Amino acid sequence: MAVFKDLAAVAKGMSVTLRELFQPTIVENYPDGKGLLRGAQFQERYRGVHVLQRDESGLEKCVACFLCAAACPSNCIYIEAAENTAEHRVSGAERYARVYNIDYNRCIFCGYCVEACPTDAITHGHGFEIATFNASNLVYRKEQLLAPMPAHLGANAVFNRAEVDKNPELKMLSDVPEKS
Ligand code: SF4
Ligand code: SF4
Repeated sequence: MAVFKDLAAVAKGMSVTLRELFQPTIVENYPDGKGLLRGAQFQERYRGVHVLQRDESGLEKCVACFLCAAACPSNCIYIEAAENTAEHRVSGAERYARVYNIDYNRCIFCGYCVEACPTDAITHGHGFEIATFNASNLVYRKEQLLAPMPAHLGANAVFNRAEVDKNPELKMLSDVPEKS
């Protein structure tokens, strides 16, 4: 009979509820957790704030082709292109992005720009703490999005002078013994 079927379905549903009721509660301890992420957890594939990548020579991978801006459904990428010269080379191709802005008021983190980029210049990073009370702070400029220089070119994020001076262990490692 239909009524027994319905009752069985309700009982089945309630049994799941009851079982979950006695499971330990799991919460993320963000922002009071340990580590760089302060307790936040996310998957490797998480799409956070973009990173504009460099090649192994430290040159910017973006060649200002505008394909990412064309693919963006939110129209939130703004690029101004400029020509590389022999004296001032920024990317490995003819042009580079003199201005590259992403407006995070509009970005929906869909990843279309990443898919469209022919040089793998734009990728999603894991940055997620971008909340602000001032909407103009959400327009990120190229300087904020660019990846640091590769370590072998002298921009190792750990071994820069300010970090070393603050950290006695690193200072010991970096101190070059005086020649006798
Ligand atoms: S993630 Fe999507 S919305 Fe955001 S900039 Fe890229 S294409 Fe535009
Ligand atoms: S990020 Fe990629 S798609 Fe966008 S302008 Fe630069 S090279 Fe072209």
